Amino acid sequence: MNNSVARLKDHMKKIEQYQTIENLLYWDLATMTPEKGVDSKAEAIGFFSTEAFRLSTSEEYGSLLKELSAPENYNTLEPAIKVTVRRELRDYERFCRVPEDFYTEYVTLKARSQRAWETAKKASDFSVYAPYLDKIIQMTKQYVRYMEPDQKPYEVLLDMFEEGMDSQTIDRVFEELKEGLRPLLKKIREAEQPDLSALKGIYPISGQKKLQDMLLSYMGFDFTKGTTAESEHPFTSEIGSGDIRITNHFREEDPLAAIFSAIHEGGHAIFDQNIDPSYAHTSVMQVNMMGLHESQSRFYENILGRNPGFWSPIYTKLGELLPHFQEVPFDTFLKAINHVEPSMIRIDADEVTYCLHIILRYEIERAIFNDEVTTEELPALWNDKMEELLGIRPATDAEGVLQDTHWSDGSFGYFPSYLLGSVYDGMFLEAMEKELESIEEIMSKGEIMKITKWLNTNIHQNGSLYTSREVIQRLCGKEISARPLLDYFNKKYSEIYSF
Ligand code: ZN
Repeated sequence: MNNSVARLKDHMKKIEQYQTIENLLYWDLATMTPEKGVDSKAEAIGFFSTEAFRLSTSEEYGSLLKELSAPENYNTLEPAIKVTVRRELRDYERFCRVPEDFYTEYVTLKARSQRAWETAKKASDFSVYAPYLDKIIQMTKQYVRYMEPDQKPYEVLLDMFEEGMDSQTIDRVFEELKEGLRPLLKKIREAEQPDLSALKGIYPISGQKKLQDMLLSYMGFDFTKGTTAESEHPFTSEIGSGDIRITNHFREEDPLAAIFSAIHEGGHAIFDQNIDPSYAHTSVMQVNMMGLHESQSRFYENILGRNPGFWSPIYTKLGELLPHFQEVPFDTFLKAINHVEPSMIRIDADEVTYCLHIILRYEIERAIFNDEVTTEELPALWNDKMEELLGIRPATDAEGVLQDTHWSDGSFGYFPSYLLGSVYDGMFLEAMEKELESIEEIMSKGEIMKITKWLNTNIHQNGSLYTSREVIQRLCGKEISARPLLDYFNKKYSEIYSF
């Protein structure tokens, strides 16, 4: 059996080599590639991805996985190998049903479509992107039908991004949220609004970059295992083991966007940097459960990053790196980072209205995959839903349907994981404060690393050994519920807005 496990790890290592190249090419496309270099990179991605695909679907690999999954062998395996065999066999069987030509065309289209999205977004012109998006939608539907012909496509996609998740659970949790958020948002909007004019100013990008590095170190990002760059849309990428990179997007007049993107992506990176290295070449190393991943980035971004305790030990440093902050009283800064106001752009949204941005995308994706809306109708549907949920209407496609990159690379089913992440965070916060003390007290003493260590021990080191549901059961002893998140919101915002 040991020999078969060694062969499994060897094979996974080979696949990882191709993925490393693929991720490096994606990284380059997003951060460096000049316009005329896009096609060759897209083609190279198609090539390496197809090679990895061939390895994942080779007959030899299939028989190895089947051998390991036979009960008499499977029962003797250690947990990480069991998880790996289960996932790899599921993916093997799925991939074997996808024709290779189709797969190459799909991957190449996704890479090209991303650039089309960028161009369309810059010009705020949906029509440039619509043909690509339409093709991506059709091909994604077909892709999923090949993989799981007997299941509903959107259920398969949800499960791909968050193992074990289904629309029934999401419907229940999102409804609970919608109901709880409506009265909260109303109270916040009726309360006296803060004066944030002191923040208006210029914050040089060189200073913002230094601040980003300072914040990342403060949280526990390890610069010997990662680096940073700039891109249109911030993201985190693993370029092989020991190399977890993040990107950011800077605007001189808006330092808060870059600050919170850095904290968010830093949270993703800290998760990946702290997975137990003994899981190398098993699927536990790759956390494809995006709800769990987003729970970590969003824990840092919102639960920690919008708490006064996060900033009190380091606020003077902000003024040193970006002098305009010297004119912003600490209390005004806290009000600014916790200001709740319906706005058009998801990634700039406050943590309360953010939930509604995700519910909007979830409802639209459901409509796309139930064939209830055409690609052409998407901009109008988007705007109508913004009005219904947030009470505002986008004036342009750039601040509406074109704002996110996810659909351009076929990541339908990803959006709900952001909000699931926050829902899990409400539950993790409860468990953490029960065991330690209040996070505000810990951080005020300058001991944020105590929190990072708690997350390392209880969540990060296990990689994807457990599903989110299992992590929550182990840490909180409960089923997934939006209640703790709503309790956290209500307590926090009734203090901030005095109601
Ligand atoms: Zn994220």
